[in-house]
Amino acid sequence: MPSKDPNAERLISATRSEEEDSFELKLRPRKLSEFIGQSKAKEQLAIALEAAKSRGEAVDHVLLFGPPGLGKTTLASIIAIELDVGFQQTSGPALQIQGDLTAILTNLREKQVLFLDEIHRLQPVLEEKLYTALEDYKLDIIIGQGPAARTHVMEIRPFTFVAATTRPGLLSSPLRSRFGILLRLEFYTDDELRFVVERSAEVLNVPIDQDGAAEIAMRARGTPRIANRLLRRVRDFAQVRGSGVIDRPTAMQALEMLEVDAHGFDDLDRRLLMTIIEKYDGGPVGLNTLAATLAEEQDALEEVYEPFLIQRGFLERTPRGRMVTRAAYEHFNLPPPRRANTLF
Ligand code: ADP
Repeated sequence: MPSKDPNAERLISATRSEEEDSFELKLRPRKLSEFIGQSKAKEQLAIALEAAKSRGEAVDHVLLFGPPGLGKTTLASIIAIELDVGFQQTSGPALQIQGDLTAILTNLREKQVLFLDEIHRLQPVLEEKLYTALEDYKLDIIIGQGPAARTHVMEIRPFTFVAATTRPGLLSSPLRSRFGILLRLEFYTDDELRFVVERSAEVLNVPIDQDGAAEIAMRARGTPRIANRLLRRVRDFAQVRGSGVIDRPTAMQALEMLEVDAHGFDDLDRRLLMTIIEKYDGGPVGLNTLAATLAEEQDALEEVYEPFLIQRGFLERTPRGRMVTRAAYEHFNLPPPRRANTLF
């Protein structure tokens, strides 16, 4: 499979580019009350925070899961802010050796939040080391080498571990059982995303009206990160080609120019659906065959593209493979086939 240019940023890809980090930091809500949508997760969290505060204890460990760009990192930092404790962030792939994890755990401050992104990519040896740390706030350290090596048990300060993953199914059950609070983040509704766009426009001082915000929201794949990214691009367009104010016509023109269609599909969404329709008669087709045909990474298809297409009813996962739905044919103005193996 050809490797992709790491700098080639897809406009609507929900994964974050480095350049985006500082921009996101500015737009990140800092309080639970500023965090839009996700009412179920928010309520569960608010109760846990309140209870821990009144007991004066560290909050139970939290696992956040859902597609990229829905607010997992944001919620983790909100937990720390709401509890008025320290916040430290790392990620599964960043921790390479046992020493990395030991250093982080032994330097933790009382009750602070340790956020570990992409926990499904943590190495298994490190995962096992985490178990005792999470359960008993203890860490086994081996001192010396060979026959003289001794195990030393170190106490670590009680802390709250907040982990995030786009792939909860890849976590081992012993690891999963260490979390007291499991929060699933869902795609946002168009209305919720409109609030996200309006809030971000206010923070960035961008003039926008309700219709302009609604147009951006509609095409943002249910994802705040994408909504914010589109806002930024539409703002540029409005400044250069328009009056500076983002209204519906300006937003529509800008988004058309950026080739983000009314459903928020980008080129890969369209290629994915069209490939299943044209090459596989609507499906079913296995994920690895599909990834090879599209010359794309299997993980990206499964974590970023498929969840949205499935949630919006264009694609289905069946035991025999992926199949497009009638809505996909309608989207491309194609007549659906009349065959036994289709979904309709
Ligand atoms: P994840 O960690 O799930 O990939 P992030 O927490 O980094 O996602 O969120 C991406 C961006 O989207 C953040 O910069 C934040 O500004 C914005 N965002 C996410 N969730 C919300 C929300 N509920 N309300 C407002 N903005 C949000």
